Amino acid sequence: MSIDITLTPAQKSLQHEARAFAHDVLTGVVPATRDIAGAEARAMATKPFYEKLIAAGFMRKSIPVEAGGECSGMIDAAVICEELYSVDASVTCTLIGSVLGLYPLLLAGSPGQIAELLPPFLAKTGAPLASFCSSEPGGSANAGSPAPGEGVRTKAVLDGGHWVINGRKQWIPTPLGWDGKGADLLTVVCRTDPDAAPEHAMSVIAVPRPTPGLVFEHAHDGMGHRAHLSTRFRLDNVRVPVGNVLGGIGGGAKVAEASFTATAALVGILGVALMRAAFAFALNFAKTERRGGIHPIIEHQAVGYALADAKTTIEAARFLSWAACKALDDQSPGAAELAYQAKIFGSEAAVKVITDLMRVVGIDSYDHELPLAGLLQDAVVLPLFDGGNMGVRRRQLHNLMKSEGYSPLTAWGGE
Ligand SMILES: Cc1cc2nc3c(=O)[nH]c(=O)nc-3n(C[C@H](O)[C@H](O)[C@H](O)COP(=O)(O)OP(=O)(O)OC[C@H]3O[C@@H](n4cnc5c(N)ncnc54)[C@H](O)[C@@H]3O)c2cc1C
Repeated sequence: MSIDITLTPAQKSLQHEARAFAHDVLTGVVPATRDIAGAEARAMATKPFYEKLIAAGFMRKSIPVEAGGECSGMIDAAVICEELYSVDASVTCTLIGSVLGLYPLLLAGSPGQIAELLPPFLAKTGAPLASFCSSEPGGSANAGSPAPGEGVRTKAVLDGGHWVINGRKQWIPTPLGWDGKGADLLTVVCRTDPDAAPEHAMSVIAVPRPTPGLVFEHAHDGMGHRAHLSTRFRLDNVRVPVGNVLGGIGGGAKVAEASFTATAALVGILGVALMRAAFAFALNFAKTERRGGIHPIIEHQAVGYALADAKTTIEAARFLSWAACKALDDQSPGAAELAYQAKIFGSEAAVKVITDLMRVVGIDSYDHELPLAGLLQDAVVLPLFDGGNMGVRRRQLHNLMKSEGYSPLTAWGGE
């Protein structure tokens, strides 16, 4: 593993571009949506902001150069995520959810499938949405469980030249699109062989728009990401051509694992983004507020030490996440371990650091008039989503460490 993770001039310029876009456009999302009642209506009101994100090229910049986009690697993705997410988690989550929805196509699609399904996402027009549909009512931490566990319950059965898909999914970002007719692309984890061993029983099937049979059930009313839509929905006899399997029939477990390894490194960066926003606010508060005393509160040692601890954690989380991104780009043998660690560390650090910074600011941080309460609401999901840290992520690390030939030196290239 190489240790040089200095941003290139192109990545610096991407960083400044994303920062300026976030400042100019995304600062408007919360004021435009916070007073709208209903999770669905709030999310639908973000469409103009999402369209601007697409027009500014941030979807193209998240798609690898080899597939026709402009992303040179995971560090590019990390830079974009940090800048956008630190200003608005909701609309950025809609972008990231779509990129995750594309990962099975990008990682496992054939050239023909990519040529057919990717073009709407390469254009800088409209508001294209993709969703990776894995989570199901009743839980998905054990999606690969053998019988008598249920594993993935959504089934796809061959009928002539088509797959017929039936099942329910939940916590899926905008699967019915902006108009209820379906996202531009759903990548749906299905059980395609009820008798096969778990590692060969699942497939990821591409469901393009428009698709009859997608039935809305519920808009989740989440604690954070208040203007991002997560949905429970049903697939009722959804028919797609037999050639829509991504990564081969029975290859679903591998495709899902590869997709979630890439996002793990990015969740670490999402934690950094929220911590960074909280730190900037708390530092300014500490330097300018006396709270009735003689000196700005940063002069009190307790405040200074709390800020020092927070900043140390932020830099550690960013470097671990960047190292994971670089290792994924280099296909280093320790990449998966670093990615899982970045996810666990960055996500849990965000909840703790933002809470600590709220203590620095004190009681006023509890009011949504200041940004810290909203940042904490957004941060709480980081250990829970993208594979919960309890049910999925720690188990992935545990399994890695149990595996034959695991070396504790591999992650940092120490062999
Ligand atoms: C904003 C947002 C966006 C999302 N985007 C997507 C998306 O794009 N696509 C998608 O498919 N989902 C998405 N989700 C859903 C989410 O990523 C997953 O459903 C979630 O990470 C899996 O939940 P879980 O690990 O809590 O699993 P569950 O199965 O619900 O498990 C619950 C709990 O059971 C325990 N548990 C279960 N099994 C084990 C085990 N083997 N070992 C130890 N403990 C265990 C753990 O305590 C675990 O936390 C999103 C959610 C949100 C809020």
